[in-house]
Amino acid sequence: MALPYPHTRNDCEMCRERDADFHVQEEQYNPPGKRPARFCQGCIGIFLTTHASYGRGRDVSPGEPFTITLAMLFPGEGSWD
Ligand SMILES: [Zn+2]
Repeated sequence: MALPYPHTRNDCEMCRERDADFHVQEEQYNPPGKRPARFCQGCIGIFLTTHASYGRGRDVSPGEPFTITLAMLFPGEGSWD
């Protein structure tokens, strides 16, 4: 599949093949000593479906809105660490 722009960092935490487009800001997803919760535009959907909804446990019901804070990352060169 063609990538929408050159990918150089490959820092998506899930696929490790693409540059992350989003950084999930919540501390619970960024534990110390682990890689930051950064995901490409494809994997962010998987993350939201699995971790952000199921991972919240029983205090989130299907159909109930929840919020999550994302920071947009810019594609291209360089490391965000
Ligand atoms: Zn990815």
